Amino acid sequence: MSSIDSTIQRITKTGDGETCAPELADGPWTFDLGVPSYGPGASMGDVIPTGAPRQGQLPLEYQQASNEDLHARIIAAKATLGDRAVVLGHFYQRDEVVQHADFLGDSFQLANAAQTVPNAEAIVFCGVHFMAETADILARENQAVILPNLAAGCSMADMADIDSVEECWEQLTEIYGTEPDADGRVPIIPVTYMNSSAALKGFCGRNGGIVCTSSNATTVLEWAYERGQRVLFFPDQHLGRNTAKKMGIPTDLMPMWNPNKPLGGNDAETLNEAKVVLWHGFCSVHKRFNVGQIEQARAEHPGVRVIVHPECPMPVVDAADEAGSTDYIQKAVAAATEPTTFAIGTEINMVNRLAAEYPQHTIFCLDPVVCPCSTMYRIHPGYLAWVLEGLVRGEVLNQITVADDVAVPARVALERMLAAKPPVTTKEA
Ligand code: SF4
Repeated sequence: MSSIDSTIQRITKTGDGETCAPELADGPWTFDLGVPSYGPGASMGDVIPTGAPRQGQLPLEYQQASNEDLHARIIAAKATLGDRAVVLGHFYQRDEVVQHADFLGDSFQLANAAQTVPNAEAIVFCGVHFMAETADILARENQAVILPNLAAGCSMADMADIDSVEECWEQLTEIYGTEPDADGRVPIIPVTYMNSSAALKGFCGRNGGIVCTSSNATTVLEWAYERGQRVLFFPDQHLGRNTAKKMGIPTDLMPMWNPNKPLGGNDAETLNEAKVVLWHGFCSVHKRFNVGQIEQARAEHPGVRVIVHPECPMPVVDAADEAGSTDYIQKAVAAATEPTTFAIGTEINMVNRLAAEYPQHTIFCLDPVVCPCSTMYRIHPGYLAWVLEGLVRGEVLNQITVADDVAVPARVALERMLAAKPPVTTKEA
């Protein structure tokens, strides 16, 4: 199967931190040791928090094995394990890994997929850290969730840590108080994007808040405004802004919260008038898209249909024909009955896979530079073979466990989301 390894391009480093590098084609184990970093790829310029999980050295035999050897070893280990292990692959994951996935989907689809295999003792999550945490929160007690490379974090999720959010909440509560208005709506409701740590989901559960995905963000914000006068939305400012704007909220009622500044860099009056307070996080993959790329696509491909992910900045979403989650993009392409040219603004692995799956259409990524999600890219078949062969020996490697004091309230926030809108159907690979 094809790999983006062979098509990665060098991006010259500029003042605002461009990101890709041809070293991506080397084994990601090169970046597991030494100074902690997200590794080459879209998030390379982001600051990794102190204490972010680190991956120890992958045994040499897996580093040195050929792709063919790893492929055969993964197949053999899966055959031995049978129903005892299920492998989940995110849409943004590399093809060499995805081809071994029992389920392919977005983070929430995959967490739900795991629930459909109650006999599996191990859930091997080929995604990033917060996804494995969510799977563990929803998993049965006797199921172990495994993240093949512990360094597969998410730079966006890392942009909102629990201490900064607690501090923000304290400051906002001082301004707003806690008394409901005449309609019984509390001053503010916390909403966290699925792409956040379990600690933040737990925070929302404890404080009357809720989780959202990029598929149901509008439904979730409607839920929140029925119960609250305002929303604190974290960690992705773009999803929050794009969703609130779509609901008719003026952008001047959406101040951004910078945790490094008093009152997040705002005055009390602005915060009092706010309808949504946006955390200053972003996804470095989707931040790469810009309006110029859309203009170029339209000039070079008259009639092109431009679809972008709502994690893209607002001007990009406004300039596109459509914006939607990975599931939306997938379905939009699948539903096109006539040969169509699609310019897509999301992660390169998913776009390339769509292009291969639907050869009747012309499908390309809006970003001309092949630059994958750094952290998804950390999961190489070598790590998958390593954890699966560990399971064959009876050894659980790289287990992700969420403590009960976090998991219980996090489950409350996830259940509120499910009650606000039923879960999206899972898709078997
Ligand atoms: S694409 Fe962006 S939000 Fe998704 S895992 Fe990668 S860094 Fe995180």
